[in-house]
Amino acid sequence: MTNTTIPPQLQIPETLAAGPGPGNTDARVLAAYANAGLADHMQADVLRGMIECKEMLRKVWGTKNTYTFGVAGTGWSGLDCLFSAILPGDKVVTFVNGTFSGIDALTVRMRAASREDLAANSLDPRPANVTLVTVPHGQSVTGDVIETALSTHKPTWAVMAHWETGSGRINDIRAFSDACERHGVMGLVDAVSSLGIEDFDIDDYPGIVGWASCPQKGVLCLPLTYAPVSFSDRYIAHLRANGSSTYVNHPIMEARHWAIHDGKDSAAGTYHRTHSGYAVAAFHEALRINLQHGKAQKAADYAFHEAALRAAVIALGCDVTSNMTSLVVLNLPGKLAGREKDLVQACRARGFGIWPTLSEPVQVRIGILNQLSRQAITDIVERFAAAMNEMGAGADVGAAREALNRHYLAEMAAE
Ligand SMILES: *Cc1c(COP(=O)(O)O)cnc(C)c1O
Repeated sequence: MTNTTIPPQLQIPETLAAGPGPGNTDARVLAAYANAGLADHMQADVLRGMIECKEMLRKVWGTKNTYTFGVAGTGWSGLDCLFSAILPGDKVVTFVNGTFSGIDALTVRMRAASREDLAANSLDPRPANVTLVTVPHGQSVTGDVIETALSTHKPTWAVMAHWETGSGRINDIRAFSDACERHGVMGLVDAVSSLGIEDFDIDDYPGIVGWASCPQKGVLCLPLTYAPVSFSDRYIAHLRANGSSTYVNHPIMEARHWAIHDGKDSAAGTYHRTHSGYAVAAFHEALRINLQHGKAQKAADYAFHEAALRAAVIALGCDVTSNMTSLVVLNLPGKLAGREKDLVQACRARGFGIWPTLSEPVQVRIGILNQLSRQAITDIVERFAAAMNEMGAGADVGAAREALNRHYLAEMAAE
């Protein structure tokens, strides 16, 4: 390019990220990223930072699993690592109740497919050894559905999302873990949306042998830093015995850079890939913030502020169908039915980043990641109500304000 054709420096505006993710990154995380010195991936403080991250991650996950670390990338990078032990021909049952568990199921079908399955439909293989159990959008995966599927198919692996962000539904990991134990199945869970929001310890779910999350939702780090993963000894033993076709996302190999060798913590990491000191510093700060906030307090704060947002959008005439605490998924009032995407577009054009659902039916998703204050929730409600009314909804903004007042005054009275 000549100088006249080089674009000007890229400017990206600050928006209110009020969707299912990414959440607004904490200023402390951004500062840690920007203030890290230039140091390579084998420099002593970078390696020490990775060890400290690993140790903090065990607390965040609530686990003694040695194989607990971060996978460079996004949620799907962690999930790719999680599914790396699934081999062609493996028998798998996977539960689908929205967009993300649907993509998990696609990943699993690609992993478990034979060459013939891939050749027949390379972008959407349908191996007979993978059973999809589909639960309608807007509903949770429940214990009886899990029990029926696992007792009928007796697979090697079962896969479920903990919190299905596409439909905003919480799935029953207690029933999932118990059914996996009963039927000798190894459970794998997509905890991308729940880690750092819900208060749970994965060691309480022994039927689940592997977990994966992401940086940019509850953990509040930048996308493309680290996706937390954790594997039980049973998973690692199975992987060691049977192998995997990936180098970069191989749990045993990747863990070596996090100072985990032959099932034990070691003094220092050894090279697996080139890690970024900036990313390590950011991830480290994000984990510190999570632990300082405290798992129980953070979960309580999400539940409290989600309830405020829920009450306000109901007062605006919307119908909420989700039960996650980081997000509300709603149907617009009758007058605006069918105009969900227009409404979302109008909001996004003004730097108010809410989302539609990505799979049918079309609904609106409003998230509160890192927006845990009365002021932030009020701002979200005001912007949403204004956008609805500009489209002619005639929604009662006073009633929404009143709902927020009632919610937050009740808190002040309780204190
Ligand atoms: C967001 C999300 C993903 C994908 O995460 P990326 O960071 O976009 O790769 C996967 N599963 C669930 C449940 C999610 O919410």
